[in-house]
Amino acid sequence: MTAIDQTRLEEIFLGEDVHLLDKVIEALKPETSNIVNIFYSELIGHPDAGNFLDSEIVAERLTLSLCDWLKNLFLPRSEEDLEQFVAFQHDVGQIHARINVPMHLVVDGMRVIRRELCGLMMTVKMDQTDLVKTVLLINEVLDHVLSLMNQSYIDDLILHERNIHSLKMQVSPYNLAMECEKQRSFLFNWALQVTLNLFENEAPNTGRLSTLLRTEFGLWVSHKTPLLFTDQDFTTRLEQRLKQIDDAVVAAAKRRKKGLDPKFYAALHALNEQVSRTAWSLSETMEHILELESGRDALTRLFNRRFLPTVMRHETELSVKHNIRFGILLIDIDHFKKINDSHGHDAGDAVLEQLSETVVPIVRANDYLFRYGGEEFLAIVGDVTSETALHLAEKMRTVIETKDFDIGGDSPPIKVTVSIGIAIHDGHLDYQRTITRADGALYGAKNGGRNRCVLANGGSTQVA
Ligand code: GH3
Ligand code: MG
Ligand code: MG
Repeated sequence: MTAIDQTRLEEIFLGEDVHLLDKVIEALKPETSNIVNIFYSELIGHPDAGNFLDSEIVAERLTLSLCDWLKNLFLPRSEEDLEQFVAFQHDVGQIHARINVPMHLVVDGMRVIRRELCGLMMTVKMDQTDLVKTVLLINEVLDHVLSLMNQSYIDDLILHERNIHSLKMQVSPYNLAMECEKQRSFLFNWALQVTLNLFENEAPNTGRLSTLLRTEFGLWVSHKTPLLFTDQDFTTRLEQRLKQIDDAVVAAAKRRKKGLDPKFYAALHALNEQVSRTAWSLSETMEHILELESGRDALTRLFNRRFLPTVMRHETELSVKHNIRFGILLIDIDHFKKINDSHGHDAGDAVLEQLSETVVPIVRANDYLFRYGGEEFLAIVGDVTSETALHLAEKMRTVIETKDFDIGGDSPPIKVTVSIGIAIHDGHLDYQRTITRADGALYGAKNGGRNRCVLANGGSTQVA
């Protein structure tokens, strides 16, 4: 909370208009549960409110909390009270974040409270000036409360996102692939058990065949995959498949009651089909994981873009905190399309591989090198000035220019050049800005004739 907010809250609760707040408290006392009921009856129709207000228990608990909150809304009368009041609103925001109440729902709810409270005050006998003042006070208190809640809501969400991210970084791709493999064999075993069960029991009771959703596999899908896999759709897809498998079991069990006839075999076949498809999609994911989750590009072994935001955010923070600037080098191969067109895609791939092998030893161990796009690379170089960054870029450019690139077969080696755009972090907190500046400089290098390095808005363009 800012110092201005703090001062204003003190003026509201500890200032001379506090008798007006007493009037609000007095009017509110007999009406609290009425307002809370109106609040819920209006919000229950909200399309996003289902999860929070659907169940009776939740609604009952929330009703109690809301009554409590409303009763205390105008109550602080000392600095200590105020401190507690602020902490309480922060807590509420955190709870909203934890139970995932969307922020706009809170804003809508607050609007109902605001309208009801102001309406209530209209029914109280008081002179016009006091009434206006009171309505203004109510609005101001609610605005402050909303902003306190939102602040902690956002803090909590950021923390949550960071934790999920670091959790994902902790789990090695190898372990993830192992988990997939384990679940795959579990799935086949389970399917075998279910099939045997269906054969053995003349009148199987589907309830006795445990549904896949409740098995170790089902629990793994719903509890672990959303936290471990970056691909959000993965969980959704698997859940759909689980449901299809369970439906196929029920269908097969129904047929079984009528005997071991061809329709039963067809139902079993359909079940097996579903199981195989699920197993196949697990294998496919496993292959993806090994490449994607490792954060490495399969061809060049450089980092892929996945970790770029994390690294950029970290470097930007360090740069701002310690005033040690980092630089971005955007390296783009010149006329790469022609290499592909003249010598084939494999030759292009060989160039990409050799180019990354050439650049890696030029950057220092603390620097980062990413495959930024098809034939674009991005280096984040620490502790540089415009001159040292430009010097480094020039070194890369000349080493590449003089190198012979082997494209395999009997073909003679070919020559490759690159254009490099450079930007030094200028203290701005938004890391994307630095990349955009480097991109602008790269554009300048291409326009200037290629095979050259250009420094973003430094004016010192070096032409090879
Ligand atoms: P410029 O000098 O303006 O950068 O021209 P360019 O031809 O290098 O740039 P353009 O963007 O027109 O073409 C890039 C080409 O890179 C097109 C795409 O087919 C090729 N490419 C992208 N990724 C790969 C890859 O992984 N392997 C191979 N062999 N080619 C790739
Ligand atoms: Mg390009
Ligand atoms: Mg290019």
